[in-house]
Amino acid sequence: MRHVQVGNVDVFALVDNVIPYPATAVYPKATDLSRFAHYFQPDGGVALNFGSFLLRDGNTLLLVDTGWGPENNGRLLAELAETGIAPADITAVTFTHLHGDHTGWNFDRASGKPLFANATYLVPKADWDHYSSETPQPDSFTRDVQPLQELGRLELISGEHTFSPSLTAVPTPGHTPGHTSVAIASGTERGFILGDVVISPADTEDPQMENSFDWDHEIARETRTKLLERLANDAPLVGASHLPAPGLGHFVRLDNGTSWRPLP
Ligand SMILES: [Zn+2]
Repeated sequence: MRHVQVGNVDVFALVDNVIPYPATAVYPKATDLSRFAHYFQPDGGVALNFGSFLLRDGNTLLLVDTGWGPENNGRLLAELAETGIAPADITAVTFTHLHGDHTGWNFDRASGKPLFANATYLVPKADWDHYSSETPQPDSFTRDVQPLQELGRLELISGEHTFSPSLTAVPTPGHTPGHTSVAIASGTERGFILGDVVISPADTEDPQMENSFDWDHEIARETRTKLLERLANDAPLVGASHLPAPGLGHFVRLDNGTSWRPLP
């Protein structure tokens, strides 16, 4: 767990786990991955962080994404305990998107009840529409997301939804249809919870590079390119789900693109 502040907003970076994936599987179409070897493990693995971010703005405690869950030996609850905040204290849970590595801790498997007992679960409508009409629906969707609606615990959000005075949803489509980031603005300070617009520091430097996980490569590339440009200019604190744990840092401008600078 790592805690930083953006103005009056507390940002807690929670690591569910870190799992290596072969770079050749993450970027199957890349012709020269050796230029990014310094970002990969000696055996060519990309050590993907599976991170969530808990944001506190006054009385709002907003958890952004819920990791892979217990099946992958997730540590999210242990990391949350280190913050001193209990699952029942969380007022809202939201999702950058509805892939299974972002919804895993929605339910307590033992009781079958929503783990965040007092939270509203806020789901990007375009992702809900996409996955609820898919055949077959992904297992993680039927297990972790759909039952929230049946329990009346789910609220669909779209556009620039306001979570609290300092926390606003920003649509960043491409990785999935409804992929959504969270902008933080408090006083003169800024932060941005990015989600999966970027998967590893390699595609930060080459935003045109296709990865296996994006839904629409053209839209994803456009979002990635434009957003990196803006984030390198404005230099907010960035929290990114899969960048090296704990996934906090800044984008900086290079001569021919942008680069990721993790917090020291
Ligand atoms: Zn992801």
